[in-house]
Amino acid sequence: MDAAASFSADYSEARDKFVAAAQTAGARLERITNPNRGPRGEALSTDVAWVGPSDAEAVLVMISGTHGVEGFCGSGAQVDWLARGEAQRLPGGVAVLLVHAVNPYGFAWLRRVTEENVDLNRNWIDFDAPPLPANPGYEALREAFGPAEWTEESRAATAKVIGAYLAEHGQKALAAAASSGQYGDPKGIYYGGAGPTWARRTQTAIYETYLGQASRIGVIDYHTGLGPWGFAEQIILESAGHPRYERAARWYGSALASVSDGNSASAELSGDGLAAAPELLSHADVTGIAMEYGTVSPARVLYALRADNWLHAHGDPTGPDAAAIKAQIRDAFYGDRPDWKGMVAGQSLLVTRQALAGLAAGL
Ligand SMILES: [Zn+2]
Repeated sequence: MDAAASFSADYSEARDKFVAAAQTAGARLERITNPNRGPRGEALSTDVAWVGPSDAEAVLVMISGTHGVEGFCGSGAQVDWLARGEAQRLPGGVAVLLVHAVNPYGFAWLRRVTEENVDLNRNWIDFDAPPLPANPGYEALREAFGPAEWTEESRAATAKVIGAYLAEHGQKALAAAASSGQYGDPKGIYYGGAGPTWARRTQTAIYETYLGQASRIGVIDYHTGLGPWGFAEQIILESAGHPRYERAARWYGSALASVSDGNSASAELSGDGLAAAPELLSHADVTGIAMEYGTVSPARVLYALRADNWLHAHGDPTGPDAAAIKAQIRDAFYGDRPDWKGMVAGQSLLVTRQALAGLAAGL
């Protein structure tokens, strides 16, 4: 079958393809409506599909669209998994929970953030236990990351400031300043929020509804925008030696990249959903990884995010500036070519089969 056919051109097409593929696979479906609309007035929802026995003690959870626009990737992987008939080949006693577009607003509007301008993977912190995490690097670059004007002059001036920071501190420090999360600038990039977002509350409710009976849970969360074109880094938060890391290594082998050990392309960050899952699902053994697929260079990704941030914070997301900026951010997080889609589907198929085998065997 043609893997590229499982991928979509926009959120609504992705949603429809997912629902159709889930129905064909005999899944139990639930639609959770988001109160917002898409750029063309389209309805938004997170859609949940369950395949396998309803009382399964072992469940694999596949999540798409944590970062909105990155949902093209995860949606394609989910639809491909369903369309290949994988749901009909589940090991005994194992179920799969597919969560489509957990941040549907960001997917539809081609944004990485939620309707609250929040990075969902910086939002899973305890807002009742201050102080919120500090990010001095972000504070130093705040004006440069998020200028009020987006003109040739402002782009050149801010590029100079960011370039000087890069020259002095290096790529890792720049990535941490930009992307490790910040809680002081609600209109800025990688903002973690001031409370749980709609997407966080929705994901929490899905976990409560579907996973109370499970004792072994695998989570695969699909992301894009870091690393070489089409290559998936299998990211785990824990260090080697941690029981969750060791379990993941039994399932997936030694290709894991650990954020804590510093061998992942991802910066260390606060409020990641994978970090929250073991606490939300404390009755179970939870093994979570992110599949992080590469697209374009870090410089292009950051540029696209800053432009999109300006458009929504200071410009008009439906005005004349929108088309070019939206094309940039779509390209930054979606490799809209057949080779990339094939790589996404193939590597996803590998890890889903590994996870299902690991869950079934109780590894
Ligand atoms: Zn992401």
